[in-house]
Amino acid sequence: MQAVIQKAASLSISGLPISVSSVTVQPQPLIHLNQVVKVYATAAGDFAALKGISVDIFPGEFVGVVGKSGAGKSTLLYMITGVDDLSSGEVIFQSIDGRGPISVHDLSENELALWRGRTLGIVYQSFQLLPMLTLLDNIILPIDLCGNFRPRQSRERAMELLKLVEMEEHAHKLPAYVSGGQQQRAAIARALANDPPVLIADEPTGSLDSITAETIFEVFETLILTGKTIIMATHDNSLGPRFSRRLQIADGELVSDKATGLWGDALRRNARGGAEA
Ligand code: ADP
Repeated sequence: MQAVIQKAASLSISGLPISVSSVTVQPQPLIHLNQVVKVYATAAGDFAALKGISVDIFPGEFVGVVGKSGAGKSTLLYMITGVDDLSSGEVIFQSIDGRGPISVHDLSENELALWRGRTLGIVYQSFQLLPMLTLLDNIILPIDLCGNFRPRQSRERAMELLKLVEMEEHAHKLPAYVSGGQQQRAAIARALANDPPVLIADEPTGSLDSITAETIFEVFETLILTGKTIIMATHDNSLGPRFSRRLQIADGELVSDKATGLWGDALRRNARGGAEA
């Protein structure tokens, strides 16, 4: 864990200024949410699932979106990924190709699909691997679809990603022939297919037993060290201190926003330019 913290301490956190020699650098948010509102139309009338959420997320953060079931966590992730429309507000991503900020909900369907494929890796509670494809082919498919890598490289890259999540020996199996935890590892490898800067995970450990869930959480901790930014929704409060930052959602509102626990302390010290304890 100490090694994790030391590496993490070189990353930015929560918009706090970071001292580099005598110069203070204010990090740019990677994702900016401005007054995001989502109202669902239901038979019983309109229901506001998000009531105006504003937050900035910075590169290298490991953000936990926590709250009870029904609080609005998944809806918030849908707004960030653009898989569902927002009712008002905006979600702005820094561009990854130097073309200026992207307003996610102003993109056309085609632009959105292309942007999402290059920018985000998404991990679901239910893994959502294609059952008729081997684990390897489940990863090759998005690599080939996005076209970021040459076709002959995609197989090699998919295998490297399976290795990263310690699943290379199961590469040629169908999803049904490995355990839930192993499927989730393969799903994480798939999310990394196009080397996105941001991973979005919606209750990724929610259908796993606690020991398996722990090993999956450790995979995410490792990915933070490779420079990814991760936003993970969970109703498991015990995970709170293990994120670098915890956003608590209740009834569609952001009720607390805290740098947390060991990572938080280390990152805050780093942000102040202080020595590691
Ligand atoms: P969480 O992920 O925290 O469990 P959700 O974001 O899934 O919460 O849901 C927030 C609220 O919005 C809940 O009350 C849920 O019933 C409601 N909700 C979610 N999706 C829809 C929908 N498509 N239509 C109507 N209400 C919805």
